[in-house]
Amino acid sequence: MSAIDSLPPLSRVIAEHQLSARKSLGQNFLLDLNLTAKIARQAGDLTACDVLEIGPGPGGLTRGLLAEGARKVLALEKDSRCIPALQEIASAYPGRLEILEGDALEIDPLAHLAPPIRVAANLPYNIGTELLVRWLTPPDWPPFWESLTLMFQREVAERIVARPGSKAYGRLAILAQWRSDARIVMSLPPGAFTPPPKVSSAVVHLTALPEPRFPADAAMLSRVVAMAFNQRRKMLRSALKSLAPDIEDRLVEAGLTPTDRAEQVSLERFCALARVLMS
Ligand code: SAM
Repeated sequence: MSAIDSLPPLSRVIAEHQLSARKSLGQNFLLDLNLTAKIARQAGDLTACDVLEIGPGPGGLTRGLLAEGARKVLALEKDSRCIPALQEIASAYPGRLEILEGDALEIDPLAHLAPPIRVAANLPYNIGTELLVRWLTPPDWPPFWESLTLMFQREVAERIVARPGSKAYGRLAILAQWRSDARIVMSLPPGAFTPPPKVSSAVVHLTALPEPRFPADAAMLSRVVAMAFNQRRKMLRSALKSLAPDIEDRLVEAGLTPTDRAEQVSLERFCALARVLMS
């Protein structure tokens, strides 16, 4: 009998540990172990990797990651009620599951992990975007992670992979696609979760590129993109006018049309503009 078979069904774990879902913690649990195994497989070959999992809850995805052969899983969970349930999984996989109780926005888990590191999580929706932006904007590149496999609300997933010309295209797409490959790899209806959330969800898989796709200063690119999309209906020449007195010339120098709107501008052109503004 494999370790995963020796553990009780998740519905029993939830009943035994009285893990009634709390909205304030974004708790929508995945109880179908076939589904969590499928999500774990989207994270790639885990056998030589440490995996950081944020918000393991009762441990459905944790079990999937371990069964898929992760060298080690570091599970960081804020809800103390989940810790005993996770300890049962740790006993079934000796030496491969480390549990940290705390807030993912406050704890730096890196001291507990060895490279190569992958991140996999069914994230609490209230902190998902903030964590993603942090992971995409470290002081140095490449980042600590090789890949991120993350559950988001469908609408947020679409913003991460959006292309120019679409409503979803904005700062998140530029941040994600500048230095990683981002793909939606699974779609999940509300009914896949207990309790079901109001909206559909999707799993996004991001692979870190060794180098940015186009050269640019990270801080300048971030500033330009934030300003451009803050006033996304305005033409670039007015949305960006506080960046440089001769902004129209700079836009032309970067290969842009000053009357374009941010939504139409490719990642490559935003990077060109960031370079021109630094020259
Ligand atoms: N991974 C589990 C699953 O798929 O069934 C649970 C996912 S549930 C959407 C989000 C989990 O994140 C919950 O277990 C919740 O307690 C935890 N959580 C919420 N806020 C957190 C935070 N700031 N730091 C760490 N975990 C958090």
